Amino acid sequence: MGRGDGPSQAARPALNEETTEGAATDPVAALRRIAYLLERSREPTYRVRAFRTAAATVEALSPGELRARAAAGTLTELAGIGKVTATVVTEALQGETPVYLRRLEATGGRPVAEAGAEIRQALRGDLHTHSEWSDGGSPILEMADSARAIGHDYIALTDHSPRLTVANGLTADRLRHQLDVVAELNERLTPFRILTGIEVDINEDGSLDQDPDLLARLDVVVASVHSKLRMPKDEMTRRMVIAIANPHADVLGHCTGRLITGGRGTRPESQFDPEIVFEACRQFGVAVEINSRPERLDPPKRLLRLAVEAGCKFAINTDAHAPGQLEWQVYGCDRAAACGVPIERIINTRDVDSLVAT
Ligand SMILES: [Zn+2]
Ligand SMILES: [Zn+2]
Repeated sequence: MGRGDGPSQAARPALNEETTEGAATDPVAALRRIAYLLERSREPTYRVRAFRTAAATVEALSPGELRARAAAGTLTELAGIGKVTATVVTEALQGETPVYLRRLEATGGRPVAEAGAEIRQALRGDLHTHSEWSDGGSPILEMADSARAIGHDYIALTDHSPRLTVANGLTADRLRHQLDVVAELNERLTPFRILTGIEVDINEDGSLDQDPDLLARLDVVVASVHSKLRMPKDEMTRRMVIAIANPHADVLGHCTGRLITGGRGTRPESQFDPEIVFEACRQFGVAVEINSRPERLDPPKRLLRLAVEAGCKFAINTDAHAPGQLEWQVYGCDRAAACGVPIERIINTRDVDSLVAT
């Protein structure tokens, strides 16, 4: 990635949206470069336009006024400049490549699909799958065999929890029984490993819908919101943070709950404060799931970028309900690449022992 020749305040470098050259420390060029990169990753037009509008506003200012406003923190008083674009401008003026731009450039200018393929190659397993024990369509063994056939070393079997009755969620007794079945299967499948797990509902009060002692025995606990998705923002934020702070939670499943295509119709994102939620994930070491199901693709890219900024860990999962769906991981990998998710922060690139140990 070209960083240019360091800060050169003497003259505004020629604008070139095709490369980073000149974009690093010139606020207008940086804003336009961000717009270009967002376009390339097919972000909605309004988001792209926000950066171009901000670029036009900044360009109309004298260099003196721009610096004075950046120093005084009053850039956001200008029409078309918000918190994010003001930060980009301020960082560029300080002679740094803005963090936002750096993240967007993280694919190194390569096509997203190529960077996505590299991430897919690094994955060793899948941490969110369902069997016929809850609402999946296939026996556990078939899911495991298919995962092994596509090169995985492990999958976590994460069937639903009791309150999700529409999905035949497992009672504590059925889950205990499943643990015995998985233990037997693992003896046959070794070195492949089925990790024990659950996709546990996050109850309305933030508690988790399964016996804590049982949760403590599982290798992987994916915590997801499946009910009251429309609760007010503040309440949803509190609910999610309580779940994330639960010592048994390992992964935050499909965080917005949105549905964007498919037979189940569409559903808007649930509302929560992403900065608080992702900060909680970072603090408590809970991985943010990148859910690869085509109708989910959750979180949306703008939130995924925020989670990268927040320093979160990630798990790229399929949420497969049938063996063929295990291949959907590539969709999540492409999104991770487009949003600059560092490979070393993706927990399912780890081998099974180091994964389970943490
Ligand atoms: Zn779910
Ligand atoms: Zn699921």
